[in-house]
Amino acid sequence: MLIIFGAYFIMAIHIDRYQEILSVLKPYHATLVAVSKIKPVEDIKALYDLGQRDFGENYVQELVAKQQALPADIRWHFIGHLQRNKVKYIAPFVHLIHGVDSFELLKEIDKQAAKNARTIDCLLQVHIASETTKFGLNAQELEALMKQSSGLTQVQIKGLMGMASFSEDAKQVRQEFKDLKQLFDRSKQACATAEILSMGMSGDYIIALEEGSNMVRIGSLLFGGRV
Ligand SMILES: *Cc1c(COP(=O)(O)O)cnc(C)c1O
Repeated sequence: MLIIFGAYFIMAIHIDRYQEILSVLKPYHATLVAVSKIKPVEDIKALYDLGQRDFGENYVQELVAKQQALPADIRWHFIGHLQRNKVKYIAPFVHLIHGVDSFELLKEIDKQAAKNARTIDCLLQVHIASETTKFGLNAQELEALMKQSSGLTQVQIKGLMGMASFSEDAKQVRQEFKDLKQLFDRSKQACATAEILSMGMSGDYIIALEEGSNMVRIGSLLFGGRV
């Protein structure tokens, strides 16, 4: 039984796909964030041993436990919906927070960053999908939040993040990414530090790259499905 379990972990990352994704990203100079939520530390370590350093997690408790168990040079991306009262747990080490969509959250990140004597890089999340359930700002809210954030000294707005609709309709997904890219280009004029456009997941990262993404967040293609 134990041997079978061990073999399961060895098989759990898709090495060929990892190399393939890296070669797809290369001409775009895009960063791969390997989304390891719900996956065991063994899988993360296996990908780390191949050279991967950027990993993304959605849950604070899980991220903190993994950060403690894994090498210190991993760059941890928080890509989930972050609750204000949990910022303090990840503030000492988080590399980039992708999903910021309110001034209250940004203020709390600023406060916790100051407590840890560091600056925390953030992406503002824009709502681009047709589904109403996803988090994120509309164009006006984005503009307002960028203005408000200029008074904060310990957070840095590094760019935008968005999720396209979960749709088979590639045309629709492409249009949503186009819209986000346009907002991103406009944001860069208002905000000198904006340089990252985080868009694209396992099912749509190639379209995202074609539409101007320079950071993709890929989970199931690398680690297998999550049940
Ligand atoms: C889970 C998740 C991903 C990765 O999704 P896959 O389809 O498994 O690649 C990317 N971004 C966010 C925000 C996620 O929650």
